[in-house]
Amino acid sequence: MSKISKYSKELKVFEAKVQEAENIIIVPHYNPDGDAIGSALALCLVLRNAGKNANVISPTQYPSFLFWMPGRKNLTSLGKKTESNPDIFKNADMLIGVDFNALSRIKNVAERFNNSDAYKVLIDHHPHPENFTDLLFSETDYCSTAGLLFEIIENTYLKQYLDKDIATCLYVGIMTDTGCFSFNSSNPNTFRIVSELLKLGIEKDIIYDRVYNSFSQERMLFMGHVMLNRMVIIPELKTGYIYITAKDRKEFKEKFGDTENFVNFPLSVKGVIFSAIFIERDNFVKISLRSKGSFPVNEFSAKYFNGGGHINAAGGESHKSLQETIEKFVESLQDYKTILKNYNY
Ligand code: 5GP
Ligand code: MN
Repeated sequence: MSKISKYSKELKVFEAKVQEAENIIIVPHYNPDGDAIGSALALCLVLRNAGKNANVISPTQYPSFLFWMPGRKNLTSLGKKTESNPDIFKNADMLIGVDFNALSRIKNVAERFNNSDAYKVLIDHHPHPENFTDLLFSETDYCSTAGLLFEIIENTYLKQYLDKDIATCLYVGIMTDTGCFSFNSSNPNTFRIVSELLKLGIEKDIIYDRVYNSFSQERMLFMGHVMLNRMVIIPELKTGYIYITAKDRKEFKEKFGDTENFVNFPLSVKGVIFSAIFIERDNFVKISLRSKGSFPVNEFSAKYFNGGGHINAAGGESHKSLQETIEKFVESLQDYKTILKNYNY
């Protein structure tokens, strides 16, 4: 069930390069989620246990429901002061990207990542990886980058440095990327990995509580507002969507991460298999798409919104107004009318 044996050559190279390196910088994608941060911190901690000077540089801030994560003191989120600093990767002899498949996914640091002389590695589970690193671990069979990373660690000398904190970070990645094992987690190997993490002492119920029961009161009211006033269900097309205006975000004092998971609400309505959310950000509309079964939202996103992702979870951006973006989405649904009407799940 595990695909790691395909990578025996890469594992040897990775091990040798890590042993050679002193300063290692790990980079998750911009607007990182639980898997990007969990994988980045886990890798950082295991490398630190192995005596490396490892640090994480996140292109942007990470969500507040992860502010308790082990190892976070080794993470720098680029802000206004550091955003354009040409030297962020200056002393690195190794750069490791986690949880993204294209340079554009690290946005504001892409150019500096690409121009660095450091040895580059990518560890990811998205389809169609771009070729911009010296070494590539890319396998869609894993539910999360964290799952793949666990097996990379397990199959190198780094295994001896695993501990409870590292296991906790990896579990956050697996738990969040599978919606608490509600999707993308039917591979028995996922549960083998979780079982190994449990043996390392993770407190899974506490991790769940830290991640999912950590909202502000404003966020709960925001959620109520969204469900009551901003959710549209189109039963005949088995589709639902949510839109959030800039005014809504201000009114409910949105913090980064507050809208995480809102995109899934329409999927809780019986019969709905395709859902979308449109969030009016400062210069663009952020789009997230989710589906059940074989409806490929990554293809939909690539076709209409220049985005990508996984078959059941994808995203994109629109530079049209919120209203125009929603209209385009509703029109695009017509192209899938027959498929959606006849879709069985
Ligand atoms: P989310 O909707 O949570 O932002 O992202 C869902 C999935 O789609 C993630 O796996 C993410 O990597 C991918 N994704 C999100 N936004 C974009 C985008 O603008 N372009 C591409 N290529 N992938 C995206
Ligand atoms: Mn992921």
